Amino acid sequence: MLKVQNITFSYTKKGAANPVLNKLNFSVNRGEHISIIGESGSGKSTLLKVIYGEYDLNEGQIFWNDTEILGPKYNLVVGYDFMKYVAQEFDLMPFITVEENIGKHLSNFFPKEKKERVQELLEVVELEDFAKTKVKTLSGGQKQRVALARALAKQPEIILLDEPFSHIDNFHKQSLRRSVFNYLKEKNIACIVATHDSEDVLAFADRMMVLHDSEVIANKSPQALYKDPEMPLTASFFGEFNLINDRIIYAHQLQIVETSDLKVRVHRNYFKGHYYLIEGYTDEDIIFFENKSKLEIDQEVYLTSVP
Ligand code: ADP
Ligand code: MG
Repeated sequence: MLKVQNITFSYTKKGAANPVLNKLNFSVNRGEHISIIGESGSGKSTLLKVIYGEYDLNEGQIFWNDTEILGPKYNLVVGYDFMKYVAQEFDLMPFITVEENIGKHLSNFFPKEKKERVQELLEVVELEDFAKTKVKTLSGGQKQRVALARALAKQPEIILLDEPFSHIDNFHKQSLRRSVFNYLKEKNIACIVATHDSEDVLAFADRMMVLHDSEVIANKSPQALYKDPEMPLTASFFGEFNLINDRIIYAHQLQIVETSDLKVRVHRNYFKGHYYLIEGYTDEDIIFFENKSKLEIDQEVYLTSVP
């Protein structure tokens, strides 16, 4: 189990008054999948690096089971065998092949096992066809997949992933995400995933933590947070929403009815695939709602909220 106890971190002594992370407390169980969300600059990457032991804390402690994670001041070599970290900027060996990169830290004393392990991981990240390709010729997304596979090679107990699919095109993202996250669950590997993509979170995370103003402002299941986002910031992560009488109402929770207190003049239609997102105006506000079909501009409709 990972225990993060009252940690505070700032990059500079001068910044210690406004730390990037301020008194964070949380834990992660074996095999649990945690998503960290938050705006750009909210400290997601910093938190992962701190957990990995890349920096010394100003305050607090981090443990994996009974092992305290120590920063460079107390630990000459950053990193532990039980924990792997895949950074936003991944550093691979460009002049060797994909399979050589993935197997880089695996022992050569067991060539058969090594080969099988690399093959298994090539399948997880869907790069079987590129085993013999030199990494320098790969695209950004392919490199990201190699970095993932390499981090998984020695089967860590916990893996820290920083926007793991950010470079991957939409053609491959869905299936790769399922493959990787299902693999982690199967092997009971805990993961902490920093992301700004709600699709990384909704179907996969056991819990999501929202970072804001240097603090964890929410730490709940995606279902619970979706249902009651509490803050506009969290709601915006899930999709378009409105603040109506101080209540957060998602665009899909508004429905056209014959008549109601909420009269809206249609301003724009946005095609979304199986529905349209409609931007409409009341006398004071902009309202977003969803509709199966496109509406006529300047048409007036009445809306009501449904659960
Ligand atoms: P996120 O990953 O959520 O976008 P980061 O953790 O990268 O956020 O950054 C959090 C804050 O720390 C930002 O204000 C950023 O400018 C600052 N920061 C990040 N890395 C460094 C660094 N190496 N030195 C100084 N400040 C940094
Ligand atoms: Mg980041």
